[in-house]
Amino acid sequence: MTELLFRDDGYLRSCDARVIAADKRGIRLDRTVFYPMGGGQPGDAGVLRLASGQEIAIIDTVKGELLDEVLHIPAPGTSLPEPGMEIVAEIDWERRYRLMRMHTCLHLLCSIVPGAVTGGQVSDGRGRLDFDVPGSSLDKAALTSRLNALIEEGHAVGPRWITDEELEAKPELVRTMSVKPPRGSGRVRLMEISGVDLQPCGGTHVRNTAEIGSVTVTKIENKGRQNRRVILAFAE
Ligand SMILES: [Zn+2]
Repeated sequence: MTELLFRDDGYLRSCDARVIAADKRGIRLDRTVFYPMGGGQPGDAGVLRLASGQEIAIIDTVKGELLDEVLHIPAPGTSLPEPGMEIVAEIDWERRYRLMRMHTCLHLLCSIVPGAVTGGQVSDGRGRLDFDVPGSSLDKAALTSRLNALIEEGHAVGPRWITDEELEAKPELVRTMSVKPPRGSGRVRLMEISGVDLQPCGGTHVRNTAEIGSVTVTKIENKGRQNRRVILAFAE
């Protein structure tokens, strides 16, 4: 089992760790700051630094088959570290921060569009959500202005844990859900944007909406009956 440091602190850029295993599937560590692809957020890239001075470039991070298993994918042709080796794991922070800002912005978008989310994806500098809304009720300029208002208002963002039972007793806590939150571990992690949004999410987020910076709704696509794709990009 890998200790998932990014879950409690999305701002951690590096950590000391020990290599548990390294094979063609990827490199497993006892703890990591690397976020594995999931929930519409890409996996982190970065570097593993060995005591010898060797650096292993990590080009992607994915989930393994086991619960909380994280596979760090090295660049092709890299010689793998030995199990037991002490390393420093460091993410590409500039990229991750952009992903955190856009991911958090998608929560804002979700809160201002009535209708269930049917899909979503964050990429570097861009993001999109698909909504089950009929007709052409969504307006680019109106959504852009509402989003930037919420961003400028500077709402606090933070996790809130509740038990499975609490969530079942209060389904209204979950405004919109494209994926059912994982049950069975006894508690569910919700991400709360104070006064704006509350929903289960395992991704990484900024601490305040003001960190997102200005955004623009670049496109609203019609992806079939009752399916509208809203595409966002950073304004700068
Ligand atoms: Zn999230």
